[in-house]
Amino acid sequence: MSDTIEKVKCLIIGSGPAGYTAAIYASRANMFPVLYQGTQPGGQLTTTNDVENYPGYPDGITGPEMMIELQKQAERFGTDVRDGWVTKVDFSNEVHKVWINDEKEIHCDTVIISTGATAKYLGLPSEQKYLKLGGGVSACAVCDGFFYRNQEVVIVGAGDSACEEAHYLSKLCTKVTMLVRRDEFRASKIMQARVKNTENIEILYNTETEEVLGDGQVVTGVRVKHNVTGDVWDIPATGFFVAIGHKPNTDIFKAYLNLDETGYIINVPGTAKTNVEGVFVSGDAADHVYRQAVTAAGTGCMAALDAERYLAAKESSVEA
Ligand code: NDP
Repeated sequence: MSDTIEKVKCLIIGSGPAGYTAAIYASRANMFPVLYQGTQPGGQLTTTNDVENYPGYPDGITGPEMMIELQKQAERFGTDVRDGWVTKVDFSNEVHKVWINDEKEIHCDTVIISTGATAKYLGLPSEQKYLKLGGGVSACAVCDGFFYRNQEVVIVGAGDSACEEAHYLSKLCTKVTMLVRRDEFRASKIMQARVKNTENIEILYNTETEEVLGDGQVVTGVRVKHNVTGDVWDIPATGFFVAIGHKPNTDIFKAYLNLDETGYIINVPGTAKTNVEGVFVSGDAADHVYRQAVTAAGTGCMAALDAERYLAAKESSVEA
């Protein structure tokens, strides 16, 4: 255990678009932010290839390149970007305590949580292989659907996300095959109706993925199994989309912050405020609906502005 406690005005946890945008705004407001990158520096975008829907990049940019640019921009204004993983917090007092790698203790006036969420995958070796190769496996139809226009794709999942993404893909792709593992959807009736009424979406109930097929570089199909009859067959496809839910990275905050049943942090509507004064949230840690780089960046800006206003109000009450 380190015996020197560092004092920080603004601590940012996480290094995706939300964290770096918060850092750009906080450093330009003289809040001297310290940003801890976490175990996946750059966040979820480092697992995608081309980002073509972030404004300002007319020719697109790869996810990893974009995160390097955001880091440089944050550092240009003085953000102290550090390696390290926040392992524990204590938000029970006005000074918020945060521990890095179970060793270093930091006392913070404000904390901005930008820890993101992690997409769930099936965990099949073939799925992980083509995911890592960037060869046709994705957990985000809005991010990657465009690359499969006029092609046939398969999507796994039966919740609202899967329905929304299948419907989105149906407008781009010639055919969308939806694999539902039970004999019914989990999604709301209205979302189910949307996919059921779309001509180029085929729904296969009681059907599970056996293997993602490919040529060693890209996906060429999906081997599936009917879990009642035991029948196994191959479906040709160039894209394999997984929409079986996300896990927000918020476990360490649950003793202090209001979370919903999935673990997303509940913010005060229209703000980045949490139920604890001086603790703010941005990005996918509080967003199960949009989950886009640009929305994460937008809420990162909100979190920094809310933190700055919180500090200003606190300082003026001390002066008064
Ligand atoms: P959900 O947890 O609601 O659904 C996950 C789905 O994935 C379930 O149908 C589940 O099947 C299926 N699944 C899980 N594991 C596997 C597996 N190994 N193989 C095959 N299928 C699997 O997650 P969502 O992301 O869909 O939604 C999260 C929350 O966000 C929900 O509250 C939802 O309502 C909300 N949301 C709302 C939207 C809207 O209103 N526009 C849009 C998107 C999300 P099973 O049913 O058999 O368990």
